[in-house]
Amino acid sequence: MAEAYDPGNIFAKILRGEIPSHRIYEDDAVVAFMDVMPQGVGHTLVVPKAPSRNILDADPATFGPLFAVVQKVAVAVKKAFNADGVTLMQFNEPASGQTVYHLHVHVIPRFDGVPLKPHSGQMEKPEVLAENAGKIRAALGN
Ligand code: AMP
Repeated sequence: MAEAYDPGNIFAKILRGEIPSHRIYEDDAVVAFMDVMPQGVGHTLVVPKAPSRNILDADPATFGPLFAVVQKVAVAVKKAFNADGVTLMQFNEPASGQTVYHLHVHVIPRFDGVPLKPHSGQMEKPEVLAENAGKIRAALGN
């Protein structure tokens, strides 16, 4: 049986504004902010406001608005960092590597020959995250 959604998870707290984040985008259904332990420069998380643990229990109506923003953010990060490509990642339950149990999609700019850093590795400096968030906002036209 699927685990229940826990409204105390860290992304739910970010969505409610209870803890800070470097937001780059928000609309009625979706928020995007910088990953604090980026696997590469400009690593962004795109998060639907609707509560679900992951893709396994999400309402299918979540995916249209979510992936429309994933595409916007992918285009923006590629432009903001002059990247060669973009990796999307999305994990479901602990066996897959999921560590935060509110559905989210990782959007990571990629550069030829540059490997990803470890998942949930090292904390980035807030000033670096703020600067990168500014570049993505500018690329989004915000
Ligand atoms: P996942 O393993 O797919 O659940 O990924 C969770 C991601 O959230 C990891 O890449 C973490 O670095 C990131 N993360 C954890 N806490 C925060 C936070 N407070 N703000 C932004 N990103 C976070």
